[in-house]
Amino acid sequence: MTYVIAQPCVDVMDKACIDECPVDCIYEGERSLYIHPDECVDCGACEPVCPVEAIYYEDDVPEQWADFYKANVEFFDDLGSPGGASKVGKIDRDHPLIAKLPPQAE
Ligand code: SF4
Ligand code: SF4
Repeated sequence: MTYVIAQPCVDVMDKACIDECPVDCIYEGERSLYIHPDECVDCGACEPVCPVEAIYYEDDVPEQWADFYKANVEFFDDLGSPGGASKVGKIDRDHPLIAKLPPQAE
């Protein structure tokens, strides 16, 4: 099981969650952050600090953002399990679901 970052993070990315994660499994893409599904230890520490309520336990992702589970998982298809986001740094791409969204900033 894992936690999932959904649409509200897109184009916000304030990174408050990163500081809370004990296993450094929240990775930075171009327009969103992504939680590594195998590295996440389900501690829940990131969820309450997100100012836009973008983070959900996988069973609790709201229906309209259900596809974001897949987006978080597939983002890592060609990265594998790096074992720490700080080692990898910013990744200059997004999952196609996120890349195709219009700008989310108000
Ligand atoms: S705290 Fe929320 S908005 Fe900020 S980077 Fe994390 S998921 Fe995105
Ligand atoms: S639930 Fe815990 S381990 Fe998983 S991403 Fe959030 S802070 Fe990191």
